Amino acid sequence: MDQVIGIDLGGTFIKAGLVDRSGQLLSQHKVATRGREFDQVCDQIAEVVREISGPDQLLPACIAVPGGICPDKETISQAPNFPRWNHVKLVSALRNRGLSQVQIENDANLAALGESWLGRGRDFEHMVLFTLGTGVGGGVILNRQIWNGTFGMAGELGHIPIYPEGLLCGCGGSGCLEQYASATALIRAAKAAQSRGLCPLLRSSSGDADFDVRDMADAARAGDADCQALFAAAGQALGIAIAGLLNAMNFPFFAIGGGVSPAFDLLQGAIWREVKGRAFRQPAQGVIIQAAELGNQAGFLGAARLAFLNKVTG
Ligand SMILES: [Zn+2]
Repeated sequence: MDQVIGIDLGGTFIKAGLVDRSGQLLSQHKVATRGREFDQVCDQIAEVVREISGPDQLLPACIAVPGGICPDKETISQAPNFPRWNHVKLVSALRNRGLSQVQIENDANLAALGESWLGRGRDFEHMVLFTLGTGVGGGVILNRQIWNGTFGMAGELGHIPIYPEGLLCGCGGSGCLEQYASATALIRAAKAAQSRGLCPLLRSSSGDADFDVRDMADAARAGDADCQALFAAAGQALGIAIAGLLNAMNFPFFAIGGGVSPAFDLLQGAIWREVKGRAFRQPAQGVIIQAAELGNQAGFLGAARLAFLNKVTG
């Protein structure tokens, strides 16, 4: 089979791509996620696969899931966007709907695999992707494949401890990267700064009451030094995490994706300051750190790659 379907399951949209073995995107699809109930979403995924496959046999599919995947690679342990999904068996539910060639993986891991396959990561055997969004996630690619770790939870890069006495985190720890480099953290820090009379150029451009990270970036680029400092603080935390990974593993390439990545230009000065200051000279000079390239296609492209790698043949 030389075509597969990569699917990115989100709380708002299901995005999908028909992809060939060379990585060419043959068609692209996007539908609103119909609900939060497990059976409803399974029905919809099966519909998407049928529609893209056409009238002949169903194509192999891989689904990028926004949540934890159990080591059996069939069960979702939990998914924040789908609050009632606790240990739901997605693979068998889809098999019961006629999809014999189907697999699942965490969405951030698959975004990393997508960047490794078709982004700048294609130049490297190993890489790390950070996704800076509502939270901070990511994926670790070793030998062009996802590193899941012995316990199946590798890639939780948002919970790398940065500051020992730092902000409490939803994971139960404190000082985690996510509390400093996520969009949520940036907005929280900007609101606190505004309440102290700082960030004079920061305002919402969308007409909403609340500003977003893009508004913060606009203000920073327009010369708002307070907004620049907020991005520098996020970049500092990210740079500390990268320096640690670099010293431990000597990865040649780090990509920064997610909703904050269009502001990479505002992060990179602080990132490099930490990397040069903390990592050994040779890896610090050789490493490439840049914004991810595939945007919101990374998840389903990575899913397609995994479908080819694992040769789901039913
Ligand atoms: Zn944490």
